[in-house]
Parts: sequence; C-alpha cells; structure tokens
Amino acid sequence: MLARPGLPGFEYIKAETFQDVFDWMKEKGDDLKLLMGGTDLFVQMRDRGTGPGFLLDVKGLPGMQEISFDKKNGLKIGAAVTLNSLSSHPNLLKYFSVLCQAADTVGNYQLRNLATLGGNICNASPSADMSPAALVYEGKVVVESPRGERELSLDEFWVGPGKTALEKDEFLKRIHFPTPPEKAVGFYHKLGRSKMGDLAIVGVAVLAYPDPNQPAGVKFRIGINSTAPTAYRVPLVEDFLTQNSTTDKILYKAAEMAMDISAPIEDQRATAIYQKKMVRNLVYKGLKEVRELLK
Ligand SMILES: Cc1cc2nc3c(=O)[nH]c(=O)nc-3n(C[C@H](O)[C@H](O)[C@H](O)COP(=O)(O)OP(=O)(O)OC[C@H]3O[C@@H](n4cnc5c(N)ncnc54)[C@H](O)[C@@H]3O)c2cc1C
Repeated sequence: MLARPGLPGFEYIKAETFQDVFDWMKEKGDDLKLLMGGTDLFVQMRDRGTGPGFLLDVKGLPGMQEISFDKKNGLKIGAAVTLNSLSSHPNLLKYFSVLCQAADTVGNYQLRNLATLGGNICNASPSADMSPAALVYEGKVVVESPRGERELSLDEFWVGPGKTALEKDEFLKRIHFPTPPEKAVGFYHKLGRSKMGDLAIVGVAVLAYPDPNQPAGVKFRIGINSTAPTAYRVPLVEDFLTQNSTTDKILYKAAEMAMDISAPIEDQRATAIYQKKMVRNLVYKGLKEVRELLK
C-alpha cells in the first residue's frame, strides 16, 4: 500500500497566448490552477489529496522564459525562468549575485531545473529562499490581466502565508529589478535542518554599497524569511546601521535589533527562540562579510 494516495486526477492544458489564459481562467474559475515547474503545486495536490480539475501550463507564454538586463532599465526576469537558468546567467552573477546564491540553496540541482522564480514568489511561502534576495534588490512583480499590466512591490504582493494580492483574473508575467547601486556586495545565508535541500529555518540576505553621504559611509539592506507571515526588510535596522560606524559592536547591536523584530512561530523545524537567535547570528555574519568586502 502506498504511504500517500498519489496525485489526484486533472486535465493538463498548455496556454499559447495571454488571451488563452484569460479565457481559461474565466471559464474554469477555482477549478483551474496555473502551472509552471509544479514543484510546489504537485506536492500540495498530493498532500491534500484534492486539487483543481484543470492545470494551465503558462511556461510557454511569450517572454515568460526570458532574461534581459541593461544598466538603464535593470533586470527583467520572466516568471517561468528556472532557478538554474537564473543562477548561471552571466549578468546575474555579476550584478545580482545574492539572487544566484539564494537560487543555489533551493532543494537540489534536479529540482532547480524545474522550479521557477515566479513559482517561488507566487507560492508566497514565508520560508521561500528567493524572497530575502528579491527584497534586497527591491524587486517588483509585473502582473497581467484583461485590464493590462500592473506593477506591485513585493510587500504589496505577499499578503500572508500562501496568499498574494493577485486578483482572480491576474497572473504573474515577470519580475523587475532596478540595477543595484555601484559596488553593491551581498550574501544570502540559509540555515536548514540539513545541507541536503531542506527548507529554511531562517534565511537572511544582506546587501551593502558605498554611500559617502551616510555617517557609516555605507548603506545596508537586509531581507529575512521564515520568521514572520511573509518575508520582510528591517528598515529600522538598516537606518541604524547607516547612522553609525561599522564597528563589531554596532553590527552586533543591529543583529540583535533584527532578532527582536523577527516574530517566528514554533513549527516542526525549530522553536521560535532558536529561530530568533539564528536571525541574530546570520544577520551579524552577513554584516561582517559585506563590511570586509567594502574595505
Ligand atoms: C523536494 C523539494 C524541495 C524544495 N526545497 C525548497 C527550498 O529549499 N527552498 C525554497 O524556497 N523552496 C523549495 N521548494 C519549493 C519549490 O521548489 C519552489 O517554491 C519553486 O520555486 C516553485 O516554482 P514552480 O515553478 O515549481 O511553481 P509551481 O509549483 O508551478 O507553482 C507554484 C504556485 O504558483 C502558482 N502559479 C504558477 N504560475 C503562476 C503565474 N504565472 N502567476 C500566478 N500564479 C502562478 C501555482 O498555481 C502554484 O500555486 C522545494 C520543493 C520540493 C518539492
């Protein structure tokens, strides 16, 4: 006997045009889900034992698998770009290395051949690894509907665990990142239960770049996952850092502030107090590393 009953039945449809998507979404309503890599969707359908009657594959829509970058317009990543394509792209490695580092921590290599950036963002899991990195690069999602395009910040897009601000007739088309400030450096640090592709107990992205107008001479951005209903930035901590010199004492104080702001819940992966302490440790580690690189 199988430990799990397996996937419930469904009908697979491949969308060729945006109009196909609008038509199918209108016709099938809640009985239809959009499909990209399926690495979240199929697991959820299997675990729940029920699912929609129709899966609409949107990976092949125009532009969905494209990456474009120029310094003036920034980076545009089609929602269906896989994490492996993203993390091996020369312009991402050069200008958006924290996104690449984060992508490389997701599951395993085979999974990342299927898993997409858009799927990771639309699944809106508090522990999603791409979220802290997307936050520190100030990504915006571009969504499409019969009314045209609209752009939302990630803060606006994620409204709770597994919940987004997408309307019933909207879908994610691409993610847009402005070009990072000159000489920006950063890291993504993830703590899981094992190094073999576990979800994050805590994940922290730190980005820093020179800014001679600040008392610290540097500006910082910090993104954190797994310790609140959605991933988040910590502007209070970022401001504190820019207003002070970057001594060990100040960096540690900033890390403690981030720990105090974090609000994890107990789950099967870790206690809340452990997660809070790991926020402090990973923020401190990231801050020290970027300080070294900017010396
Ligand atoms: C073994 C395993 C290990 C994993 N490890 C990690 C990990 O370490 N870190 C991590 O962050 N994640 C992990 N994941 C989760 C998963 O791989 C990622 O979240 C992945 O990036 C989702 O992308 P996808 O293309 O597979 O999305 P899908 O599963 O195809 O879709 C995800 C959700 O988005 C919706 N959707 C799809 N396309 C669109 C669209 N264009 N517009 C609007 N909604 C859309 C779907 O209906 C679904 O609800 C793991 C999953 C597995 C199975």
